[in-house]
Amino acid sequence: MINNENFSEVLYIDLTHKKFWIKNRPELFSKYIGGTGVATQLLFEECPEHTEPLSPENPIIFAVSPFTGVYPFASKTIAMFKSPHTGDLGESHAGGRSAVAIKMAGYGAIVIKGKCDMPIYLVIKDRKVEFRNANTLWGMKSSFTVGDVIRANEKDPGMRSIMRIGQAGENLVSYAAVVTETYRHFGRMGLGAVFGSKMLKGLMISGKKIIDLTHKKNYITTYKEIYDKAVDSPVMKKYHDLGTAGNIKSLNLMGALPTRNLKAASFEGADKISGEHIAENFLGRRVACSHCPTGCIHLAVLREPYEDEPYFYKTTMVGYDYELVYALGSMVGISNPEDMLKLIDIVEKYCLDSMTTGVVLSWATEAMEKKLITIADTDGITLGWGNLNAYMAVVDRIVSQPNDFYKALAKGVDFASKKYGGKDFALAFGKNEMAGYHTGVAAYIGFTIGARHSHLDNAGYSIDQNEMINEKPSPEEVVDKLIKEESLRQILSSIAICFFARGIYSVELVSKAMATMGIDKSPDELMKCGREILKEKYRFKVREGFAFEKLNIPKRIFELRAAAGMIDEAFFNQAIKYAKKQLIDTV
Ligand code: SF4
Repeated sequence: MINNENFSEVLYIDLTHKKFWIKNRPELFSKYIGGTGVATQLLFEECPEHTEPLSPENPIIFAVSPFTGVYPFASKTIAMFKSPHTGDLGESHAGGRSAVAIKMAGYGAIVIKGKCDMPIYLVIKDRKVEFRNANTLWGMKSSFTVGDVIRANEKDPGMRSIMRIGQAGENLVSYAAVVTETYRHFGRMGLGAVFGSKMLKGLMISGKKIIDLTHKKNYITTYKEIYDKAVDSPVMKKYHDLGTAGNIKSLNLMGALPTRNLKAASFEGADKISGEHIAENFLGRRVACSHCPTGCIHLAVLREPYEDEPYFYKTTMVGYDYELVYALGSMVGISNPEDMLKLIDIVEKYCLDSMTTGVVLSWATEAMEKKLITIADTDGITLGWGNLNAYMAVVDRIVSQPNDFYKALAKGVDFASKKYGGKDFALAFGKNEMAGYHTGVAAYIGFTIGARHSHLDNAGYSIDQNEMINEKPSPEEVVDKLIKEESLRQILSSIAICFFARGIYSVELVSKAMATMGIDKSPDELMKCGREILKEKYRFKVREGFAFEKLNIPKRIFELRAAAGMIDEAFFNQAIKYAKKQLIDTV
């Protein structure tokens, strides 16, 4: 039984000495709630200044929240680490069953430190941690098979979750991901490489605890309020019906769908890779994270005939959503949906971050067009828009890194373009490759100033769509709105809910739901807490050397009309100057 009001135990695991211990940290959870807030503080505690991201000293931190297992959509585990991709704050969120499994095992957070001398996977069962030999799993081509083997080996009842890396993580590709429950990922910023550097192939966690709530009557009423809002919401219905891939057509129509490395913002093949077309022709099933009444995860069925057996098919389930379709579809000029699904599938098997991989492939294609690289660099491969076979071969080599060119591609476009040229079309912000929104200036300011350099930090694209056209805010007003949104999102990621439910969880409702768990924080206090957490993240970034002045801003974004109009470089620069004052000069 876990008393949710005293939910504050942290499990520490030392891989070097194969030891573990548990500490109760109530002061941490009462001040910073859980999730992002707690994980940021643990990062300060455990990550020495200027730690090399792929060294044993870089900690992996997982944190959940008092809402986990208690309220709908509190499905996320927050991972925090120093990013090998950007060199500063690494943060990634994943759903599946991971968060509920951590909570049911009795923990608010887990800290993994050190490095093993051989490949292992961890088994965390309630109060016990076991270190299992993973020699036979290391080098396996498919991360799916790794999951199958761990699942078959660990026959444990209770809520459980299996995280693992693929070959990308083993080979330290700086944007390697960690997959959990096959279709959810700690996708961005290279957590997979940090696992790989520790020889940590995977992690199975299970727990059978029951959560005890004190204020049951108020809890039931508040739960129902949230649940009813979720099932009545047309936005959540949209996530269920078509998933985020339903945005392809609309973003394409408004001229905001990055295409062929953002040489265009609308794609002639958009209809064929749209959420509607994939659902009509390939959708196999939908699945949901634990404790989610929406179920937005869409799986396509890919049928491929065996070469010598025409009526025998290899059938693969391939998860897809907007970001994958943009990055491995329009961005690389692939309009054949089967080709796109094959590319998504190989990227998933290696456990690469799909968004970064798509931008890397598209940068390399343009670099070849512009003769910055040749087939001597690419190992004989001629890259061309929409050429699936070439892209599959490049992805293989990004993972195996047979030469200097692929070693550079395995570090992302910011790194590769510094070596080979092409910085003006290297579409990364804060070294993190862009998401699929050429909506306007607010999206790019948002990518640049967000603590993770992610579209999820502050949703600048929605300012472009809702306000830039009619209201025309000043650069300072745009930045103020983005910082306000990012501060609010610190609360949501400290209670570890899925951002798709952000329209349901107002700050007032969060405060009310907290009260049912004996946590007393007013909406004002929550907003202050959110701003404080964002400040703390910037404190970490600055400590590790982040500075806006060092960033490469690709000129490409100023050359192509966005949905909200041309992006004015002077407006952008004024916004970044002001953001620096707000986010760094005050740290
Ligand atoms: S909406 Fe989708 S990502 Fe969010 S919790 Fe539900 S299934 Fe998971």
